[in-house]
Amino acid sequence: MREDWRERFAESPDCLKSTRRVQTIVPVLDLEIGGGDFITMAGPCSVETEFQLMATANHVRRAGARILRGGAFKPRSSPYAFQGLGLEGLKMLSRAREESGLAIVTEVLSEEDAPMVAEYADILQIGTRNMENYALLEAAAHTGRPVLLKRGMAATIADWLRSAQLILDHGNPNVILCERGIRTFETAMRNTFDVAAIALLKQVSHLPVIADPSHASGDSALVPALARIAVAAGADGMIVEVHPNPAKAWSDGQQSLDFAGFDMMMADLEPWLTLRDRGLSPCRRGVARREAAQVRFMEAVR
Ligand code: PEP
Ligand code: MN
Repeated sequence: MREDWRERFAESPDCLKSTRRVQTIVPVLDLEIGGGDFITMAGPCSVETEFQLMATANHVRRAGARILRGGAFKPRSSPYAFQGLGLEGLKMLSRAREESGLAIVTEVLSEEDAPMVAEYADILQIGTRNMENYALLEAAAHTGRPVLLKRGMAATIADWLRSAQLILDHGNPNVILCERGIRTFETAMRNTFDVAAIALLKQVSHLPVIADPSHASGDSALVPALARIAVAAGADGMIVEVHPNPAKAWSDGQQSLDFAGFDMMMADLEPWLTLRDRGLSPCRRGVARREAAQVRFMEAVR
């Protein structure tokens, strides 16, 4: 890796690629995030009802998603907006896992809740507003669940990697970085999708990197284009909001795809994924697999 990058991110040494570690593979049920396959996580912004969640889970699974997203604890911009169903939402998510076979990713908002959320979820999501909440990161790390670390909306890449480093420092190697858009002077979209951050991170860090085209744009009309861009930039996957009836969604309806929109996006993504597999990932996959085998070996002999 280039020396200036190593210096720039010197406070997060364990996040950086080295000869010993070029790609972390995060295991989630039978999936490998960072292992070469582009993994799609999809579902509603908020868990609302049993019907809404089950219908979405079954639909996105058929269209190719491997992980179900859905917020039970919601950090809303307005304190008066719907704050999520809490434990009831977690129980619905775990029933959806049983029924659909999809793994579950859901946000954890406070350190006291971390063990409870970890009981129901396969991946703990740290939202943009909490990226630098170190007490929460520590609690999430200690659950042993993989952590999906969203970029703070005003965080530099160095800030973001420092937070990832903290999770690694607390003994949890399974961190997934998620670019979800940052605040800039541009107001036409909800956020500005920093696609260069994905390209850069794929060069400097061994951690898997995914994109969130929903929060990055705030507009369902732009989500498919951002998804294609994420694939082209080398992302390991994406997390995207899907709702049976976006106009009636309790949160983030504007940016949620309906079922037909999700199907179309996934179908349109196919040629891009084929290109990606042909170009990027065969060698990356080989490297990643060898690397993972080597790490397992080193751990076994330690
Ligand atoms: C979400 O995933 O619904 C969410 C609140 O995301 P972010 O933290 O990126 O705003
Ligand atoms: Mn949302």
